[in-house]
Amino acid sequence: MGSRAGRAAEAANDAASRVCDAGPGTAGDISAEGITTDITADVAVIGGGVIGHGIAFEASRAGRSVVLIDDAPGSGASWAAAGMLAPVSELHYQEEQLLELMLESSRLWPGFAAEVDAGAGMDAGAGGTECRAGTGYLTTPTLAVGADAADRRALADLREVQQACGLTVEPVTVREARSREPLLSPGISCAFDIPADHQVDPRLLIARLAGVLGTEGGSLIRRRAAGLLWQDGQVAGVRLAGGGFVRAAETVVANGLGAAGLEELPAGLALPLRPVYGDILRLRVPPHLQPLLTATVRGMVRGVPVYIVPRQDGTVVIGATQREDGPSNPHAVSAGGIYQLLRDAQQLVPAVAELELLEATARARPGTPDNAPLLGRVARPGGGDVPGLIIATGFFRHGVLLTPAAAAVCRQLMDGTPDARWAGFRPDRFSRIPDTSGDSPNKEAA
Ligand SMILES: Cc1cc2nc3c(=O)[nH]c(=O)nc-3n(C[C@H](O)[C@H](O)[C@H](O)COP(=O)(O)OP(=O)(O)OC[C@H]3O[C@@H](n4cnc5c(N)ncnc54)[C@H](O)[C@@H]3O)c2cc1C
Repeated sequence: MGSRAGRAAEAANDAASRVCDAGPGTAGDISAEGITTDITADVAVIGGGVIGHGIAFEASRAGRSVVLIDDAPGSGASWAAAGMLAPVSELHYQEEQLLELMLESSRLWPGFAAEVDAGAGMDAGAGGTECRAGTGYLTTPTLAVGADAADRRALADLREVQQACGLTVEPVTVREARSREPLLSPGISCAFDIPADHQVDPRLLIARLAGVLGTEGGSLIRRRAAGLLWQDGQVAGVRLAGGGFVRAAETVVANGLGAAGLEELPAGLALPLRPVYGDILRLRVPPHLQPLLTATVRGMVRGVPVYIVPRQDGTVVIGATQREDGPSNPHAVSAGGIYQLLRDAQQLVPAVAELELLEATARARPGTPDNAPLLGRVARPGGGDVPGLIIATGFFRHGVLLTPAAAAVCRQLMDGTPDARWAGFRPDRFSRIPDTSGDSPNKEAA
């Protein structure tokens, strides 16, 4: 294994003529043009969303040289995400194993945020709420509120399931909820305190992770990956679109919905990803209404969920719709979706009508058939796993929450010490890997 500023940095130096704008606080940034020679690193990560950045950070922290490959880092689902770290509120029936992973990641979050901030030279903020200004990680609680009697029943039913799983969800009176959050509507039907559901700002998080990677000698290659590079029956790196290779002992496929489109994936591997679109809003709270809220409010309004996440910078995030209608433009924002979000948020917090609308965004979540990630190594025909390859995609609604866990799982796999608890998330669980190795379409390296 090379040092942190090891082979990736050497390769970046070799390619000095191709390096652009590697300013302080950014990952060494290799321009789009003219990578025709090979770059070598311990780890190549395809995809620079929260997941790819988190994995690259963890690998770098473990002393590995890392190259991150993305032509538009941070522009996928991670750009839209509200950043709720909400294992309790996000509990769904029959997703117990996913809950375990979400709880594990929730436990990892404080240390992960601290490590990112330490790497970025930031301090934890002062005050009653633990705040790491660098990533926007906040331990503010969540209030679940219902609009009408049916919403109250639905939230009470959900609480029974949450409690059966050992999760803490405490009912509070509407009066008490309004004394904590005076701008909540007096018309809400119920409120529940969920102290364990926190938040982070995904855009800040990616910026900080990129900065730390840069200072540790990691490189960002602003290019698309075309496919995997094979050599002697194992994955040996990444083939770049337009020419050039990144050679690596470990290649991590972390490019969200784009993973299934990579060429030279292992024989028989199916990555059944589907886009689940979400509209989301960012708004500024005028000074006379600040703070609009101190807790994240997750509402149920006539059976439809809506949330309002207050940020420390005086903005709020209101989200999110969930639709699978497949627009021709994947970033197209739905007018009906925005109407619904504002209408429902305003019913819970009437002052929402007085906010300044800054941004409406839509992105697709990388969904899977069982709503759980595709995370781990892939079986190869004839037995064992494909050496040199890790898949980390399909994080659907939970990618921000699951970033530290995904990073830890990948690190354990690279260290050769996988945690058996997460074997159920293997990315080949929907695949029929051929029994024999003779019919593998995998290609050897050029
Ligand atoms: C509206 C909305 C709200 C959300 N809110 C939350 C929330 O509150 N909490 C939470 O935990 N999760 C939330 N999510 C889910 C979360 O955003 C995703 O699970 C997470 O962002 C997935 O991260 P990722 O890195 O896997 O994928 P992405 O963020 O989609 O990143 C994939 C990256 O891969 C790159 N890429 C694609 N193809 C290639 C290629 N061939 N070569 C190189 N690079 C490539 C893309 O440019 C992109 O940067 C939300 C999602 C949406 C849409």
